[in-house]
Amino acid sequence: MAFKIYKEAAFVDFLNKNAGKGSHLVVVVLWESRKPMKDEKIADKTGLKVTEVRTILNRLHYRGIANYEKERNEKSGWYNYSWFIDKKKLIGLIIEELCETADKLEKEKTIKENYTIFVCKQGCSEIPFEIAAEYNFRCPECGRDMNCINPKKLKNEIRKKVISIKKQIEALKKA
Ligand SMILES: [Zn+2]
Repeated sequence: MAFKIYKEAAFVDFLNKNAGKGSHLVVVVLWESRKPMKDEKIADKTGLKVTEVRTILNRLHYRGIANYEKERNEKSGWYNYSWFIDKKKLIGLIIEELCETADKLEKEKTIKENYTIFVCKQGCSEIPFEIAAEYNFRCPECGRDMNCINPKKLKNEIRKKVISIKKQIEALKKA
């Protein structure tokens, strides 16, 4: 099977987050289409309702990902809108977001390297040693015991995440 950039996790995540449920289906249909497409036809192909397709298209348009050609129907006097995807723009936005996430993780890594962090066994809070001590090492949220997390392990986990993001960025750049 040929490599399809839109199957990448970063691609799907970006669309779900920024254009909502179903937006990935709409983008894939337009991505594969040679010609711009009317919303009714997109609805047909995706199995979504026309109203849902329109909502998604508007969100995509707002971000500059989807665009349309407007054509007047001579008989009815109405305008027909045919939609297409700006592939470069979309990939650029995904890369931008991945870079921001990687930056945030790098900053998080620096902070966590310099502090001893305690986490709740339930996962509801994460606080530095000084504050954990004030709470007698009990979670301020649920009262359960808190454990110190191994900074080395944590650093490695963050590093792995950053590497995986950078790989995704490289894959997108080649698309
Ligand atoms: Zn807790």
